[in-house]
Amino acid sequence: MYYNSTRNSSVKVSSAEAITQGISAEGGLFVPESIPSLTLDEISKIGDMKYADRAAYVFSKYLTDFTDAEIHYCTDNAYSTKNFETESIAELAHLFDGTYMLELWHGPTCAFKDMALQILPYFLTTSAKKINLDKKIVILVATSGDTGKAALEGFKDVEGTSIMVFYPEDGVSPMQKRQMKTQEGSNVGVCAIKGNFDDCQNGVKAIFTNDDVKSALEANGMMFSSANSINWGRLVPQVVYYVSAYAELVKDGEINLGDKINIVVPTGNFGNILAAYYAKHMGIPVNKLICASNINNVLTDFINTGVYDRNRSFYATVSPSMDILISSNLERLLYLMTGRDDAQIREWFGKLASEGKYEVTADVKAKLQDEFAAGFCDDDHTKQTIHMIYEKYGYTCDTHTAVAVKVYNDYKAATGDTTKTVIASTASPYKFSAAVLEALEGAKSDIDEYAKVDKISELSKLDIPAALADLKNKPERFSDVIDKSEQKEYVLSKLGV
Ligand SMILES: *Cc1c(COP(=O)(O)O)cnc(C)c1O
Repeated sequence: MYYNSTRNSSVKVSSAEAITQGISAEGGLFVPESIPSLTLDEISKIGDMKYADRAAYVFSKYLTDFTDAEIHYCTDNAYSTKNFETESIAELAHLFDGTYMLELWHGPTCAFKDMALQILPYFLTTSAKKINLDKKIVILVATSGDTGKAALEGFKDVEGTSIMVFYPEDGVSPMQKRQMKTQEGSNVGVCAIKGNFDDCQNGVKAIFTNDDVKSALEANGMMFSSANSINWGRLVPQVVYYVSAYAELVKDGEINLGDKINIVVPTGNFGNILAAYYAKHMGIPVNKLICASNINNVLTDFINTGVYDRNRSFYATVSPSMDILISSNLERLLYLMTGRDDAQIREWFGKLASEGKYEVTADVKAKLQDEFAAGFCDDDHTKQTIHMIYEKYGYTCDTHTAVAVKVYNDYKAATGDTTKTVIASTASPYKFSAAVLEALEGAKSDIDEYAKVDKISELSKLDIPAALADLKNKPERFSDVIDKSEQKEYVLSKLGV
């Protein structure tokens, strides 16, 4: 299996090269040259495996330059109870009739980003070895909360790597800030920026592409790489849990092998739902993929009209990991839907960069609407939904998952579609405790963050994840706050180059 670039189909690299490079030189994203298939027979066999082996089975079709031993080294290290609080790794909760919550937040940072960021460091270091890249890999991350912490946990103490994370000083939740400031590991660094998330991200991008910085690293035996969801090594682990969930439903007798299911995904960067699309096209029987947004509903409008327009207000919501106006992974979907037309992708994404807007052809719009349904949900309805699920089913979910439930309920009411449905549950309710507690109690509370966690535990009867409970007693290791203009010098001095 080779990988092409969405902006130049003649680029052809191995998976090890795609994973170490992160993004193609001309700015396109790497995609496998074909989507490998899974027969119903294979899906049924997968149901009898433990999660790490399910993952290895799927990876063997995409990472064909990896040996079996290399793949198992990655999966056995990433998907074990050392890192996850549940044996099944991705837990499938049977919520209510015909609806299942795919809980992707039992990893070390309590958000679904762990599913990919626990394994990416192993993919990266294995890939680097395979292509004889004898360099230390330096990961720079700009984060609005979840990705930074998940990347720190994934890369901490991984030999041959170091990681530095920048977050906006006033732009993350108290729990997220504390998670990052107390981070353990000998190869990690965390620093706040006086500015917003865009300042952090622009700074990181400028450092990545600065030739002086690159040659300084080169001279010291180092190179940069990326841990965000443009890296194929972050996307392919997400295909696994949709395959796994389907196989599990068959094994549990909830569906018959071959029955179709719907999949609902609360979406920001379009990474998680694109992984569901790949699972479908590998052979998982899927009826509709349902794309759920908060009021930053650029994707809802796109799927319903065929026009992508980012020229609109940006809102800070109670589901902040979906506060995004540029969904980078859409580029991969459109590349596939245009029949791998790289010229068309260059045109649309060129327009997105220059005018903030593009419109797809009638043919692509029809394909989009055939595979996807889309809807959105505002903050009030998000909180009402958390309350409703709690009252009705005794189940407590986080704000992002609630957006998905509301959009799904609207879809079901509008279409009468009763297909059994898997909802991707992307974060632990404890991670967004202020909004979740407000939703459960019906009023804002001014008790501190830890008291809120205790209160949610009392109401939900859910164990507090050990990683969050421990935070209270951990010493703060990182307190640097710098101006955005100092970011480059900061990185160079921390790396000692
Ligand atoms: C990142 C994130 C999302 C959005 O996922 P995408 O892959 O960017 O679409 C949804 N929920 C939570 C909790 C997240 O951290």
